[in-house]
Amino acid sequence: MHVMVLGAGVTGVTTAWFLHKAGFEVSIVDRQPEAGLETSFANGGQISVSHPEPWANPSAPLLALRWLGREDAPLLFRPRARMAQWRWALSFLHECLPWRSRRNTRAIASLAIYSASHLRALRAETGITYDQLQRGILHLFFSAAEFRHAPVRAVELNHLGIAARACTADECFAVEPALQRLAGRLAGGIYAQDDESGDAFRFTQALAGHLRSVGVRFHYGTTIERLDRSGEQISGIEVRDSAGRTGTLSAEAYVLCLGSFSPAIVAPLGQRLPIYPVKGYSVTAPIVETALAPQVSLTDESRRIVCSRLGDRLRIAGTAELNGFDANVRPERGRAILDWVNDRLPGAIDPAQAQLWAGLRPATPGNIPLIGKGWGKNLWYNTGHGTLGWTLSCGSAAALTELMQGRRPAPDFPFRPGA
Ligand SMILES: Cc1cc2nc3c(=O)[nH]c(=O)nc-3n(C[C@H](O)[C@H](O)[C@H](O)COP(=O)(O)OP(=O)(O)OC[C@H]3O[C@@H](n4cnc5c(N)ncnc54)[C@H](O)[C@@H]3O)c2cc1C
Repeated sequence: MHVMVLGAGVTGVTTAWFLHKAGFEVSIVDRQPEAGLETSFANGGQISVSHPEPWANPSAPLLALRWLGREDAPLLFRPRARMAQWRWALSFLHECLPWRSRRNTRAIASLAIYSASHLRALRAETGITYDQLQRGILHLFFSAAEFRHAPVRAVELNHLGIAARACTADECFAVEPALQRLAGRLAGGIYAQDDESGDAFRFTQALAGHLRSVGVRFHYGTTIERLDRSGEQISGIEVRDSAGRTGTLSAEAYVLCLGSFSPAIVAPLGQRLPIYPVKGYSVTAPIVETALAPQVSLTDESRRIVCSRLGDRLRIAGTAELNGFDANVRPERGRAILDWVNDRLPGAIDPAQAQLWAGLRPATPGNIPLIGKGWGKNLWYNTGHGTLGWTLSCGSAAALTELMQGRRPAPDFPFRPGA
């Protein structure tokens, strides 16, 4: 069966890989000239199985109120006159209810564990490299009040099947010596030793190159304008190339992997997908002092910022802005990230060569991606991966492939009904 994957971000390219491995004939369509050039381009780099708790949790509404109007806030809501934004924000509040948040955390953890094992297998099978490090993630707490909850949180992670342990500040320095200069300020941490990090863009590009070499067709520079339907089936996709020429591409089945742009494409079919862009920023800079740059990936729980070593570069990412489809880079948001590096890892990078980037996380209110049957007989979804698209990419793609073959995937996850 010929399957057309719509979108060549990390989700689309991994979907193509697992479908190809299962024996499907696969082609991919993307408006960009290469794979991974939108949200998968410069994310935080974490394969963060140890962070299954969604932003929508019982403490989020109070924190959001406290941060209201602060330009350097980790979470920023810029109200727009868009129904979709308000609808999303209301659903987000609903997902903050304790039982919803617990249910979402369990589902994400189950999919993330499955995903990490598929990533390891993919790496072994293809031999692709992407500045990956298997050194774990250290979650850092800078106040005694926050650190007090760390032992309980580590045990909760253990109950979800995730290896994690609470560490004193000295134990954190033993795990990552580059943090020594935080002595007297760091309260402690949680170390998740099985977590990984790596450059999602390099991964996506390397996997796309591998797929091309095994016969998967790529239609780059091809914008999808609309889906054509015939009865209860998608009969083709109407596209426009970079020279403005229009045409139709067709296959027997289609998988929607268009990130934040997924809802607009299926709206004419009467589908209302609960995905809204949540903008984030990253800074990537060359390392100037190797001993000062951590090898273990970091999550600063007090500032909601993550940091990953990518070869001879450091990637620092964070902030969440509910601001529509505006992907413009605001220098003040980049400065807030650089201030963080200056404060937590002084002297590690050359800030003059820092590259600032912004991307739109395709977020559902509870951070639960839409995986499974989409519309009609032959449209499938693998989209809406929010804060964890890199972490969940291999597992989501493997699970979707199972569903398309009529099998039930292993994770305890709310896959889309009808599959
Ligand atoms: C600042 C930041 C930090 C992050 N850190 C992490 C992290 O540390 N770990 C983690 O797991 N996740 C992280 N994420 C989330 C992760 O990056 C995303 O969830 C993931 O990249 C989404 O991948 P995607 O393939 O679904 O979307 P995208 O990468 O956006 O891919 C969608 C593709 O669809 C194409 N497209 C869209 N519309 C059309 C159209 N009409 N026609 C043709 N093509 C179209 C686009 O060109 C694009 O290539 C972070 C995100 C941000 C913004």
